[in-house]
Amino acid sequence: MSNSTPKVGFVSLGCPKALVDSERILTQLRTEGYQVVPSYQDADVVVVNTCGFIDSAKQESLDAIGEAINENGRVIVTGCMGVEEDIIRKIHPSVLAVTGPQQYEQVVSAVHEVVPPKKDHDPFIDLVPPQGIKLTPRHYAYLKISEGCNHRCSFCIIPSMRGDLVSRPIGQVLDEAERLVKAGTRELLVISQDTSAYGVDLKYRTGFWQGRPVKTKMYDLCDALSELGAWVRLHYVYPYPHVDDIIPLMAEGKVLPYLDIPFQHASPAILKNMRRPAHQEKTLDRIHRWREICPEISLRSTFIVGFPGETEEDFQMLLDWLDEAQLDRVGCFEYSPVTGAAANELPNHVPDEVKKERWERFMEKQQAISAAKLQSKIGWEMDVLVDHVEDGVATARSYADAPEIDGVVVIEGDYGLKPGDMLPVVIDSADDYDLWATPLLEDEE
Ligand code: SF4
Repeated sequence: MSNSTPKVGFVSLGCPKALVDSERILTQLRTEGYQVVPSYQDADVVVVNTCGFIDSAKQESLDAIGEAINENGRVIVTGCMGVEEDIIRKIHPSVLAVTGPQQYEQVVSAVHEVVPPKKDHDPFIDLVPPQGIKLTPRHYAYLKISEGCNHRCSFCIIPSMRGDLVSRPIGQVLDEAERLVKAGTRELLVISQDTSAYGVDLKYRTGFWQGRPVKTKMYDLCDALSELGAWVRLHYVYPYPHVDDIIPLMAEGKVLPYLDIPFQHASPAILKNMRRPAHQEKTLDRIHRWREICPEISLRSTFIVGFPGETEEDFQMLLDWLDEAQLDRVGCFEYSPVTGAAANELPNHVPDEVKKERWERFMEKQQAISAAKLQSKIGWEMDVLVDHVEDGVATARSYADAPEIDGVVVIEGDYGLKPGDMLPVVIDSADDYDLWATPLLEDEE
């Protein structure tokens, strides 16, 4: 083989957690002198980072592997679906190697086997940016604080793919956040499978950052992150009592007043069958208390309708709960069985047409709530972060909007804005999901 620069193609599927895995693998390969190329034709080898969360995601992963084989031929598979090597090899026998999620070293060694790194690579010349390779725009970044999960929700197979909770050392997480902010990141999105559980596995051990002790705990993490001067947005938080301690940090403006809590349902019987974490907590009381402490808090959640055994009464309980909870942003899925999940064994599966009908009723209810909440924001002044600008229209987000999953704030008119700009605006109008705003220009003297 010649000693020209080895080139890797990369296909990243799945959730933000998988995206962070992709970023780590790419950072390592770039450090070793590999060039990351955007086309199958230019690549010496293609890595496909797969998602195996639900059956449709697995199919998408298998299709992506097939496409990479057809277009390039030299394919390495990694990620969540990697735990099902047999299935992958049965459908795509020519795959060169299969590794599972978080197996960074294994996937990198598989790449070495197929295309060895350049012999005379000089890491001081082929510099990798200090924040590593990021697949998100420069102004926001996902900060993964742990791997795996200690829960065993009956519809989920993530623990069997990613194992039990392993928290990253607090000093390492904060160092990474600091590097990202120095490199231009203005928003840190904290992700994990269960952010509220951060540090449980380490017994909340005290670590060190900038020479001072910091506990491996969600509160201490949030407090330290708030010193960096970037937006801090919390995802995948469960409503445990200790989450209440974070709300004052939101009221003080240290952490964005935004919580992404996957409630999944409201009926105690269904939550019990789902084996959801914190399912016995009085979540409505808790939400009311949070709003007393921090009235502008924006709550995002996801729900599953048509879970096995869900009766009309359970479903009605969910609709009533939504009325009370007045959540800001909501995603809803019809239950679909995942191969290997315990919920498949539950009795009384709900017929597809009933699932669909409940999904529609759910969405209608939530759409009305969301629209009313957005209408109430007209006239508010808030800071927004610009994601992209096209034909004079800037698409931005406020504290209430996470990228990709929530709404946006649209700014029309030529204000010379560019991605990564943060500016104060006043909200002019709203539809069911998005807002329109005008920049608040500084008074000219
Ligand atoms: S909390 Fe439940 S749904 Fe989330 S990863 Fe853990 S087991 Fe899966």
